Amino acid sequence: MDYNKLAELLFPKVECSPDEIEAKFPQRDLPQGAFVTRFAPSPTGSIHFGNLFAVFTSERLAHQSGGVFYLRIEDTDQKREVEGAVEVLIDLLANYGINFDEGALIEGDNGSYGPYRQRSRKDIYHVFAKRLVAEGKAYPCFCSEEELNSIRERQEEEKANFGYYGKWAKHRDMPLAEVERAISEGKAYTVRFRSEGSADKKLRFTDLVKGDLEVTENDADYVLLKSDGIPTYHFAHVVDDHLMKTTHVVRGDEWLSTLPFHIQLFAALGWKLPKYLHISPLMIMDGDSKRKLSKRKDPEASLTFFREKGYPVAAMREYILSTLNSNFEEWRSANQDAPAEDFRFSPKKMSVSGALFDRDKLNDISKNVISRLTADEVYKLAGEWAYEFDRGFYGLMSEDPDYMKAILNIGRGGKKPRKDITVWSDLKEYAGFFFEPLFAPDYTYPEGLDRGGIAQIIREYGLMFTGEYEDQNGWFDEVKALSERLGFCPDTKRYKQEPERWKGHVGDVSMVIRVAVCGRQQSPDLYEVTRIMGEKMVKNRLKAAAEQLPYGTDSGV
Ligand code: GLU
Repeated sequence: MDYNKLAELLFPKVECSPDEIEAKFPQRDLPQGAFVTRFAPSPTGSIHFGNLFAVFTSERLAHQSGGVFYLRIEDTDQKREVEGAVEVLIDLLANYGINFDEGALIEGDNGSYGPYRQRSRKDIYHVFAKRLVAEGKAYPCFCSEEELNSIRERQEEEKANFGYYGKWAKHRDMPLAEVERAISEGKAYTVRFRSEGSADKKLRFTDLVKGDLEVTENDADYVLLKSDGIPTYHFAHVVDDHLMKTTHVVRGDEWLSTLPFHIQLFAALGWKLPKYLHISPLMIMDGDSKRKLSKRKDPEASLTFFREKGYPVAAMREYILSTLNSNFEEWRSANQDAPAEDFRFSPKKMSVSGALFDRDKLNDISKNVISRLTADEVYKLAGEWAYEFDRGFYGLMSEDPDYMKAILNIGRGGKKPRKDITVWSDLKEYAGFFFEPLFAPDYTYPEGLDRGGIAQIIREYGLMFTGEYEDQNGWFDEVKALSERLGFCPDTKRYKQEPERWKGHVGDVSMVIRVAVCGRQQSPDLYEVTRIMGEKMVKNRLKAAAEQLPYGTDSGV
């Protein structure tokens, strides 16, 4: 068979040679050991939280090695394409702090290894497909859908493996004259790879996550170019990863089954195989059993879920890194203030079997991350969140930035910062009582105090409070003095020795003040709260609380 003739017949318009294409994609000028990685989604709108793990792995490997991380859009399956998916994706990833050095951008392409959208690279794939045909490594297949179905039916009857291989590969050795005739009749055809592999042979392969693997060789003549001339994923990604100089392919482990074919393709084209990292899907607990995180069943799978809840990007990044690399947490406790990017990410520390999504761990990390931020940073990030998701609260918090920052500063700094906030959406509940429009008091006072006693505490505290104290101790000394005056023990230990001598203790008095001022039994440090609110607001609150006291046995107000 004259394969050159066959190649000319199939690709009469392809004049460019593989060498000319190669010349357009020179070696990258990068430092020794730099990784070139990519994220290569199909624009089907199906990206979910689990995909971020592969994205982060690629991003870290490239950026920590001084390499390049690029975005390639694998849009060869037009039927599954969702309009606008690329734009949404780029935006979502940017929100997670994922930025690409080159590749597809919303405005077009950025970089000299493009185009970065596969449908725009059709001519390039044809050059290499032509070469494979000319070398006898690929051939046209004229099988219609019906013919392929009938092959499948017969395979079912014979209990043979499905696929286009061996004796089932009908057009593998079609004589040139027949090919010519079929083409002149205008019959549609695909271009298939001519596999020399055998299902009886094994292939050894080292995956950087899964380790040493033994896989069965591929014997199927898979399609390289579909009948419309658009390549399949298998062919397109091999050509692209070669030309774009990808050193490490990070992708989901659903591709392991076709990896033997990809290995064959690289070899057939005479190209160096990149290193592969196949990542298991993210798992989630469903009752007592584990299953894959699912976009259909789990709200957490959606990339917007965490953003709407208000998890800071830094917390999400930190969570993903700690899930990906088993030694991250140890590193974090030794390097509390370092940015997560300083952590040296290693594929060797990745879990082979797939990570389990752990919301409690994410919450814990998020609390810690937020507790380490300054009040200014919290103000900025929470403000950005509120602007998008809770405009009403945004209005309140930005009315008087200094007031809000003072609230956010309570318990911040120091060795043991407060950890009240897990996500930005907690903030309204946490700090709402500082704002009159959100103040919805629950005047539940400590048990065992009668109305008269409560009213007296509120009234006396109102008379005493000036809003001007040297420090917390100065304020608390006065609360203690007030307690004693009203028959409450100023010292809880002493109270425990002779409880019958007192109406209660200083803790009860503080709780009454807290409930009256904050409208709840839990609040950040009461001294700080009252200091920030100032004399007028505190006194108004006390007055309102007194007015709400239920009538009881005593009329001491
Ligand atoms: N387009 C493929 C997908 O979305 C990418 C696989 C790869 O990264 O090579 O699954």
